[in-house]
Amino acid sequence: MTRAPLFRIHLRSLILLLATVSAALTLANGLYASYTVQRQQLIDNALESNRVYARKLADSVEGFLQSAQQQLAYSAGVVAERFGDEGLLADEAERLRLQTNSFNSVLFADDGGWVRATSPETLQLKGRQLHSPGIEEALRVRSPTVSLPYLAQTGNLLVFISHPVIDRAGRYHGLVGGSIYLKQTSILHSLLGEHYYRDGSYLYVVDHSRRLIYHPDAARLGQQVAGNAVIDAVLRSEPGEQRVVNSLGVDMLAGYAPVATAGWGVVAQRPVASALSALDGLMQGVLYKTLPLAAVLMGLIWWSAWLIARPLWQLADGARHMDRAGTADSLRHVRSWYFETSELRRAMLVGVNLLHQKIGKLHRDVRTDPLTGLDNRRGLDLSLALWQAEQRPFAAVALDVDHFKQVNDIHGHDAGDLVLQRLAELMRSCSREQDVLCRLGGEEFVMLLPDVAPAAAEQVAQRLRQLVERTSILPVGQITISLGVAQWPLHVGEAAQVLKAADQALYRAKHTGRNRVVLAGQEEETAGVR
Ligand code: GH3
Ligand code: MG
Ligand code: MG
Repeated sequence: MTRAPLFRIHLRSLILLLATVSAALTLANGLYASYTVQRQQLIDNALESNRVYARKLADSVEGFLQSAQQQLAYSAGVVAERFGDEGLLADEAERLRLQTNSFNSVLFADDGGWVRATSPETLQLKGRQLHSPGIEEALRVRSPTVSLPYLAQTGNLLVFISHPVIDRAGRYHGLVGGSIYLKQTSILHSLLGEHYYRDGSYLYVVDHSRRLIYHPDAARLGQQVAGNAVIDAVLRSEPGEQRVVNSLGVDMLAGYAPVATAGWGVVAQRPVASALSALDGLMQGVLYKTLPLAAVLMGLIWWSAWLIARPLWQLADGARHMDRAGTADSLRHVRSWYFETSELRRAMLVGVNLLHQKIGKLHRDVRTDPLTGLDNRRGLDLSLALWQAEQRPFAAVALDVDHFKQVNDIHGHDAGDLVLQRLAELMRSCSREQDVLCRLGGEEFVMLLPDVAPAAAEQVAQRLRQLVERTSILPVGQITISLGVAQWPLHVGEAAQVLKAADQALYRAKHTGRNRVVLAGQEEETAGVR
């Protein structure tokens, strides 16, 4: 036996749950997808703009270095034939520094590294022999150079750009060189600009030995940076973009580009967090745009769940009360607007009608005598109880076939049964719609006549007696019946007692000669009357 669970979830709740969960998942998925797409887009945009920016700045630095070399070459040309003229050297150094604005300082040195002229003269290097890496390299290679950053004798951290001085005869005299001071305002600053962004973005430049030659943090200038993937890439002369963690542990989006002439690399980078700072606002916007529609959708889902569940719920209600009288009617009113419920309703209506027919038949069978189709004692009791409850007056006519034993004996039991059936028909023909006709057992019958006075009941009894007497029932022929009549409340106080009173009258009728009617209370007077 299966045990019914105490609690069963309703279809409407199920549909709602399902719809809500799927709507919520869809919404969440949409939000998540839009979040990841927008996030990636912001990151890509930041990487892209940093790459383009680094490229642009690398190009300007490249352009500057080339023009600086040309300026130095020009000055070398100017002094090549008169390298001994210190006045000319001083003037040219001054012109070069002030007119081009490319260098913080300019100097001429001879092929032994002795300084012949400087601008500004305040450097006080004239007449001294320099051994700085920039000078020594330039004297050694005797061709245009861009040095690594180094700390000069003057105390400045600088990059030295030089050009050899060679006269028309091909004789090497020395060099002309310009310095760019890394820790002071220089051409690099005007080229690269002030790139402090409020959101933590910044720009830096490294030379090919990984030393910082431009950085917002002046303390780091000249430092060598190791283990940075971006620097590795840019020094391989690859422009590009990458996500890196900087020396302070900040997650950065970097774009980079090499400066080919000097072997430098320019890196522009922005913290990931700042690039993504717009994301919250974007997501909020998406949410605000999505929520109203989601709310409308939920409303629609609730409404449709209700519409779908309602006919089923009504049918289920009908199924619970299948045996009730009004069920078929309420089932007919269920709005089964979709196929399954209309089929269910149709099947249930057929079922309910069958059930009610069966119940009705059972009800009838229970109170019906199968041989004659009249009520049996149960039917009689029901009517008696009803009328007594209603205080409805009625008369009872008890009747018994005279000498019925002989009918059976002579013609057989079947013929006897036939007589009983014919007698029931005759009783019916003498009665009204509302009369209740019963076979109590054997060949004893009772007629209950509601709203009938004793005298009228007696007349009905007489009419029946005469009808039976006149009627020939084949194969038995003529039979007679005796009848006793009593009325409630005239003859007895209790409705149930009325049968007894009618029986007594019948008994009297038998004993006073049969084939007669006796009214209760008048047994003595009516004796012998037919
Ligand atoms: P009385 O005039 O005194 O009534 O004589 P009676 O022979 O009719 O006597 P009683 O009423 O006592 O008879 C009952 C008989 O009815 C007994 C039985 O043979 C017969 N009987 C009872 N039930 C049935 C039945 O269902 N079918 C048939 N055929 N006979 C029945
Ligand atoms: Mg009898
Ligand atoms: Mg009899």
